Amino acid sequence: MADIFEIESRYTSGVYAKRHVTVVRGEGAVVWDDQGHEYIDCVGGQGTANLGHANAAVAAAIAAQAQRLISCPEIFPNDQRAALMERLTQLTGMPRVFLCNSGTEAVEAAIKFARVATKRTEIVAAMRGFHGRTFGALSATWNKAYREPFEPLVPGYSHVPYNNLEALSQAVTDKTAAVILEVVQGEGGVYPGSAEYLRGAQQLCRERSALLIIDKVQTGFGRTGKLFAIQHHKLQPDLLCLAKSIAGGLPMGATMIGERVGVLPGHIHGSTFGGNPLACAASLAALSEMERLDLPARAAENGAYFRERLQEINSPLIREVRGLGLLMGVELKKKSAPYIQALGKRGVLALSAGMNVIRFLPPLVITREQLDRVTDTLTRVLAEPAPEAVAE
Ligand code: PMP
Repeated sequence: MADIFEIESRYTSGVYAKRHVTVVRGEGAVVWDDQGHEYIDCVGGQGTANLGHANAAVAAAIAAQAQRLISCPEIFPNDQRAALMERLTQLTGMPRVFLCNSGTEAVEAAIKFARVATKRTEIVAAMRGFHGRTFGALSATWNKAYREPFEPLVPGYSHVPYNNLEALSQAVTDKTAAVILEVVQGEGGVYPGSAEYLRGAQQLCRERSALLIIDKVQTGFGRTGKLFAIQHHKLQPDLLCLAKSIAGGLPMGATMIGERVGVLPGHIHGSTFGGNPLACAASLAALSEMERLDLPARAAENGAYFRERLQEINSPLIREVRGLGLLMGVELKKKSAPYIQALGKRGVLALSAGMNVIRFLPPLVITREQLDRVTDTLTRVLAEPAPEAVAE
């Protein structure tokens, strides 16, 4: 068979910069390529693999449900969906839920619901924020490289500096339907929001009859050391966007709906695949496994350990180590891409966030020994002569 990289490169749309690692198998926090090489996976399916790869309970639930019923549109109630809806509302303390298939869809729904519920049209988002790539979510995303090719975007969006309550206060008016924020800005460079800012944003929204949308697509399901990152700051958003690890790696998103939004009018939104029994069964199994394995606590403890180990690296190239739980960023004084490539060659897969940050999103089942291997490898890579970024 021809080289798999060559085949994908030939047929791909071109929108992805593909890496030279053909991943064919995974277990826990490790993946293997088609040549049998082992990697510690700090990409973690870009945050979808919090439970680790090949979790037996999730695999069994998917297999069993696949033999029973895969499709069932939401016009018909279904046992798996009903159980999941109950579970998600209990876990988040929010009374209703809209189920969909991805992070951007969860954001898209939240924005539409906010506009309908408030009868207002404007959305205030944060600089450096990332919320997805469909038009409504993209309009809330900050990075020009993602936005500019598609302008004009949806009207009525503005962006203000993150962690700056004064700027937010000036932007929220009686036309503002919602403010949308991440608890930790993930793609934008791993910047945690302060408790004062996030709680202040909530207060401001309430005072001005706007809604608060919290996008927890990247920071959900134990990643930051709590099941949901809003718990760090006792936030009660009006709309909460979930996706990534919600269904143990299967595509799924959810928009949790608070009291201030209430029941939405019929026909204003929908999704053919949303709430399908297969994803719901996977999600129920994934949530049980997260609880059984005590993943949020593990992420908190191992995240603190990982942060210490990263901070111990004595390299003049490091500007700052920051993050929350096992969402960790190492900001370099140089572009991070060549160092991410060098890490990959030494068996550690990592992501970028912005130009200068190496981002680690490992499965939360990662062990201390594996985290040691990550920090040892990073230490070595940073000590070597500057690697050149080669086109992959
Ligand atoms: N919001 C945030 C905070 C994200 O990090 C992402 C994806 N990285 C999204 C939304 C979009 O999710 P998806 O790729 O599943 O559409």
